[in-house]
Amino acid sequence: MAWDFSTDPEFEAQLEWIREFRNEQIAPLDLLYPKLPYYPLEGDLGVYVRSLREQVKARGLWAAHLGPELGGQGFGQLKLALINEILGGSNWAPNVFGTAAPDTGNAEIIAHYGTDEQKEMYLQPLLNGECFSCFSMTEPHAGSDPKMFTTEAVKDGDEWVITGSKYYSSNARTSKFVIVMAWTNKDTSAYQGMSMFLVPSDTPGIEIERHIGMFSEHEDEGMHALINYNGVRVPAENLLGGEGQGFHVAQTRLGGGRVHHAMRSVGVMRRALDMMCERALSRETQGSLLADKQMVQSDIAESYAQLEMFRLLVLQTAWKIDQHHDYKLLRKDIAAIKFMMPSVLKDIVWRSMHLHGALGVSNEMPFSEMWQWAPSMSIVDGPTEVHKITVAQQVLKGYKPSPGLWPTEFLPPRREWARKVLDERIAALKTGAPA
Ligand SMILES: Cc1cc2nc3c(=O)[nH]c(=O)nc-3n(C[C@H](O)[C@H](O)[C@H](O)COP(=O)(O)OP(=O)(O)OC[C@H]3O[C@@H](n4cnc5c(N)ncnc54)[C@H](O)[C@@H]3O)c2cc1C
Repeated sequence: MAWDFSTDPEFEAQLEWIREFRNEQIAPLDLLYPKLPYYPLEGDLGVYVRSLREQVKARGLWAAHLGPELGGQGFGQLKLALINEILGGSNWAPNVFGTAAPDTGNAEIIAHYGTDEQKEMYLQPLLNGECFSCFSMTEPHAGSDPKMFTTEAVKDGDEWVITGSKYYSSNARTSKFVIVMAWTNKDTSAYQGMSMFLVPSDTPGIEIERHIGMFSEHEDEGMHALINYNGVRVPAENLLGGEGQGFHVAQTRLGGGRVHHAMRSVGVMRRALDMMCERALSRETQGSLLADKQMVQSDIAESYAQLEMFRLLVLQTAWKIDQHHDYKLLRKDIAAIKFMMPSVLKDIVWRSMHLHGALGVSNEMPFSEMWQWAPSMSIVDGPTEVHKITVAQQVLKGYKPSPGLWPTEFLPPRREWARKVLDERIAALKTGAPA
């Protein structure tokens, strides 16, 4: 029976290298240039980051989410989870390791659905780390319900003409191309009537109305664009996947993305717990260390158990993906980690931040970004409620209503049944007949 939670020593050595590389080589970038990982690499910074990427490639760790045919290692989701756990919480690490969102998901769908020409033109530069990409699906009036989207693409000769508005399109600012979801047949359902298009970012008619920032970011720092597509023309061959396959393509993309976010979140949780424990052992008040106070111990214990439970759920889901290679089959598992992630993250980061007192809420500790990650994660790739609905619906599929008025576990008839069975069996034993 295979039931093993260990990491083989060879891969553990890789993980150890990644840990040290992140702490020694990438941390300076996170501390000095936290906002820059999604901007084109320029000057001395570009020289430094490219040298880091070369080391990652030499170590065989570049683009670990991809199979060997696309320049990755084909590690699978479980190993990727262990890698992402280390990269999580570092702004620059995904860029340095070639696993930054939304490029990872975009690369996956182009690899999966793209033609040879599309792969050469859009996928290859992405995999080489030469450009950024953007995924443009959410609309200003509708996010959680794609059925409400209105952006449309109409065929005109050899071209598609795209018209509509999209909200929160991450990295539009620096992207070389955008993947846009639009209706191509409004006479059918959203599941069959939408398609995906590859649109170079400099195509006439693309108007970025503004770059939306998050929380306290300055107006000019926002990375999530409100985009108007004003009759944007692309050649017919820019359709990604078949006509009407848009919803399907989006599901493929989001399935993987949700797991990757969960893996990175485990890294953030671990960091918050580490900080909490160090502080508890360092700070003394009211005659003893914080670590000796029972309420603090309770917080540490709760945080540890929540983290380990969530981590196991993520690793098990990653393992299942490796076994079945089918995101649809695993939608319950993926939705479960998606909705658990922000709540566990919020609990652990909150306790850690709180234990640091005034220092915790100051801008001299890294809590504010960790803390903002939680509410963002409860929205990005679909809000918590929608994923809970998915889990509940999938779980309920395994059940039937009780056959009569009373539940099948209703005790009076169960006891009656037990009494009858026991009486018969004991009687049989007494007479020597087979029970
Ligand atoms: C950091 C970040 C990056 C993003 N990047 C991208 C991107 O690159 N490309 C892109 O296309 N989109 C992107 N998005 C948008 C994201 O996908 C949407 O925000 C998300 O799908 C939710 O849509 P909405 O914001 O319109 O919320 P709404 O659909 O308006 O939902 C708002 C709230 O209503 C409630 N709600 C919604 N549905 C239900 C329900 N069925 N039952 C009960 N309550 C419900 C929930 O409380 C929910 O939080 C990003 C979002 C964030 C935060």
